[in-house]
Amino acid sequence: MNKGIEIARGKTKILYEHPGQPEMLVVKQTDRLSAGDGARRSEIAGKGRLAAQTTSRVFRLLNLCGLPTHFVNGGEDDDDNEMLVRRCNMIPLEVVVRGVVAGSLARRNPGLQRGGLLIPRMIEFFVKDDANHDPQIAPDAIVSQGIASAAEVSAMSEMARLAFEILAHAWRRRDVLLVDSKVEFGRIASGDGKGSLVLADVIDNDAWRIWPQGREDRMLDKQVYRNLETVDEEALARVKSAYEQVAEMVGGFPVMRSGTVAIFGGDGDQSERVERIAQALGQYGLPAIRHVASASKTPGYVLQLAQQHDATFPRLLYVAASAGDAALHAMLSSATTNPVLNGDGDADEAALQCAKIFALEDTVLFGRTLLVQTNARSAVLHADAALNVPLPMPLNSQTA
Ligand code: 5GP
Repeated sequence: MNKGIEIARGKTKILYEHPGQPEMLVVKQTDRLSAGDGARRSEIAGKGRLAAQTTSRVFRLLNLCGLPTHFVNGGEDDDDNEMLVRRCNMIPLEVVVRGVVAGSLARRNPGLQRGGLLIPRMIEFFVKDDANHDPQIAPDAIVSQGIASAAEVSAMSEMARLAFEILAHAWRRRDVLLVDSKVEFGRIASGDGKGSLVLADVIDNDAWRIWPQGREDRMLDKQVYRNLETVDEEALARVKSAYEQVAEMVGGFPVMRSGTVAIFGGDGDQSERVERIAQALGQYGLPAIRHVASASKTPGYVLQLAQQHDATFPRLLYVAASAGDAALHAMLSSATTNPVLNGDGDADEAALQCAKIFALEDTVLFGRTLLVQTNARSAVLHADAALNVPLPMPLNSQTA
C-alpha cells in the first residue's frame, strides 16, 4: 500500500500517513505480541498478516451491518499487513463488553460464577494508561474529566454492545462462544462526517476471548499466550496455530449468503403494497421479485411462478400481500416448500420478518436487523423524552 511518513507506533501496530489523502491513514499490524501491559513481549513470524486479516474481516462485517467504523479497505494477503482507514482523533478509552464472567471481572469479583452468562451484557470503560495498568473509569468520570461527552459515552456503549452482539452471532454460528471483547473509538478528524464517532483501532484475536463449544480449555485467543508458563518456540508455534484458525474462521464473517424475497400482490391490483414491501426490504439489502397474481383468476400463473422461482433461487421467501384474499396465501403455501409470510399488515413488519429468517444463517442480515430494531427503539425513547422535557423551575423556588 502506498504510504507516507510514520506518525505513531504502538505495541503491535504502526500508523503512517497516506500520501495525497490527509483524511486517511495506513495501519500496519506487526508480528509483535505482548501481554501484561508490555511486560511479556514476543514476535511470531506471520502474526501481523493474521492480525491484519482478522481485523479487516471484522471491520468489513461491521461496515456491512451499518455500524460506522474507520475501516476503508485492505488487510488481505496482497496488502502487506496494511489497511487504509479514516484518520481519527482517538478517544483514550478501552470499551469492554462482557457476555460471560471471565478475566479481570472474575478476578475483581470472586463471588461471581466464572463462566456465567451476563444478560444484559456488561459494559466497562478503562483508561488507556499502560503505566497504571489501564485503570477502570466510571461513565460520569469520563464526562467530568472531559474525555468524552455524555452523548458520546452513551453512543460508545451502544455501538460497542452492537458490535459485540454481531460478533457473538458470527461466532455462535461456528459453535464458538464470544466471552468478551475490547473496542476503541475515534472521532473522524476531517472531511465527511468530521467529529463523528466511529469504531477504530484494530479488532483482532488479541481483543476478545473466544471459547469453542463454550469450553475455556479450548480457547483460541490471546489468552493462550498470556497463560503460557514458558515462552519457547514450541509454545509460540501453538499460539500461531490458534491465530491461524481464528483468521480462517473470521474469513467467513463478512460473506453474505444471498437470499431473495418473492412478493405476490393479490386480486384488486396490490402493486402499490408490493412496492412498499420491496422498498422496506431494501433497508436490509434484500432483493425482491414483484408479482401481482390472483388465486381465482390466474391460478395457473401463480403455480407456474412458484415452481419457476423455487427451481431458480437457493434461499427464497414468499410474501403474499393478498389484501385478505386468503386463497392466494394458501395456494402459494401448498405450491412451495419455502416459507410464505403474510404481507397484509405493515410493510416494514413484513420486511423485518423476512430479514429475521435470513438472519438465522447470515450475520450481515442479523446485524442489519439489530440496527433497524435499535434505531426503532431509540426513536420511541426520543419521542418519550421529548414529551417529558423537565418543566422550568417555578420562580419562587429559584429565588428561595
Ligand atoms: P479483561 O479486563 O478481562 O482483562 O479483558 C477484557 C477483554 O478486553 C478481553 O477480551 C481482553 O482480551 C480485552 N483487552 C483488555 N485489555 C486489552 C488491551 O490492552 N489490548 C487488547 N487488544 N485487548 C485488551
